[in-house]
Amino acid sequence: MTDLTRLDAADLAGRLAAGEVSSQEVTRAHLDRIEAVDGVVHAFLHVAADRALAAARDVDRRRAAGEPLGPLAGVPVAVKDVLVTTGMPTTCGSRMLEGWVPPYDATVVRRLADGGLVVLGKTNMDEFAMGSSTEHSAFGPTRNPWDTDRIPGGSGGGSAAAVAAFEAPLAIGTDTGGSIRQPGAVTGTVGVKPTYGGVSRYGLVALASSLDQAGPVTRSVLDAALLHETIGGHDPLDSTSLPDDVPALVEAARRGASGDGLHGLRVGLVRELDGDGYAPEVRARFHEAVDLLAGAGAEIVEVSCPSFASALAAYYLILPSEASSNLAKFDAMRYGLRVLPDGVGAPTAAQVMAATRAVGFGEEVKRRIILGTYALSAGYYDAYYGSAQKVRTLIQRDFAAAFERADVLVSPTAPTVAFRLGEKLEDPLAMYLNDIATIPANLAGVPGMSLPSGLAEDDLPAGVQLLAPARADDRLYHVGAALEAMLTERWGGRLLDRAPEVTA
Ligand code: GLN
Repeated sequence: MTDLTRLDAADLAGRLAAGEVSSQEVTRAHLDRIEAVDGVVHAFLHVAADRALAAARDVDRRRAAGEPLGPLAGVPVAVKDVLVTTGMPTTCGSRMLEGWVPPYDATVVRRLADGGLVVLGKTNMDEFAMGSSTEHSAFGPTRNPWDTDRIPGGSGGGSAAAVAAFEAPLAIGTDTGGSIRQPGAVTGTVGVKPTYGGVSRYGLVALASSLDQAGPVTRSVLDAALLHETIGGHDPLDSTSLPDDVPALVEAARRGASGDGLHGLRVGLVRELDGDGYAPEVRARFHEAVDLLAGAGAEIVEVSCPSFASALAAYYLILPSEASSNLAKFDAMRYGLRVLPDGVGAPTAAQVMAATRAVGFGEEVKRRIILGTYALSAGYYDAYYGSAQKVRTLIQRDFAAAFERADVLVSPTAPTVAFRLGEKLEDPLAMYLNDIATIPANLAGVPGMSLPSGLAEDDLPAGVQLLAPARADDRLYHVGAALEAMLTERWGGRLLDRAPEVTA
């Protein structure tokens, strides 16, 4: 019998629609897989087995009754634990929210339910989405299914690992500086950060509100398009939501996969996102991908985005500034944890708040709150936050100029393959450098996709990143699906099928 967990979501959806398999069978197969491997991988913080089976039963019933269902109805999905969910805890990987069960669903979660998808549970992440390895989770790291001594990327390592380990065919991630794309690169999965405002942020626990976007984590470009269309589009509950409908992403992916439309497409190689600092084989896989596009008729142009050199510095002022403000709400009064200070008879609110935040937040979160508070302080605001905002404008101008000359931009997604657990934990700057290629897109609000480029150092996966102008997410799916088809042929099949079986 076919192992249902190895199938892509589009394939599962087809079999479900044809009545060859029920959602209960598909859901059960994934819950069994989670049971078998998640003790090692630790992709999930919460598995909602009963709820998932009940949801599956409901979709099966609706299908049997002939009700109209969405294209992914009955397909399981895992959700990063930064999106609020009724009936399931939401921790953001933090002690601060341990045990908190939100009173409402994020719009993304509601749209999954409306589409008949079956939520399997909540995935592990770096605390409040700060990190590139998932080691900053207060509940222990997630392991990379390709090599369980290695990191699965971050902050959404749980979502990427769940999909890579065949525990879920689909997952939702969030990307503030690369947390969908970089985990995608190091786990051999596909990840998309949509145009800012393209997917609702309502119910996404904010890290940096001007940068955060939720998006799909999948094993194929077509699956990402299907999931993105399910969750995207205008939401009146998010004031930064674009008024547009989602572009025709599935159609774009299908057109790309058929090899149509690459002729004359202008592909821009970003000079600042190549060269020293990228591992040799990661670079080699990237340039092979570019050669494939050229071979299919694309025109390769080199573009320069000089301000990208300052993107990391600007991001690590803007992000902590916004985070310090967003995380102020965790005051021990409203959500989750409350710790009373030792030896104080009648503590003040400020004392309770201090005691709670001292215990509830981990090192990286505290580091960024301190950095952000400092950057926003009256005496330093212009020098730090103000300057960073100016760099942000320059980056947006660099993108605008580059997109005059190219339809899409390309780069490696991450500078290296997955590193070892513990390798960068004590060195924040080394950790931050993982996002050197992904951060510019967040600062400019443009969409980005990572897809597997092949195996690089130590036979581990690497990623190639595609970037498109704001609101042109369909271009990512068109070019991404075309490239994916060519790379699959080059590697003789889906890369993930070469991953070793997960063992303890
Ligand atoms: N790794 C980046 C950071 O630590 C990105 C995080 C994210 O996208 N949520 O900030």
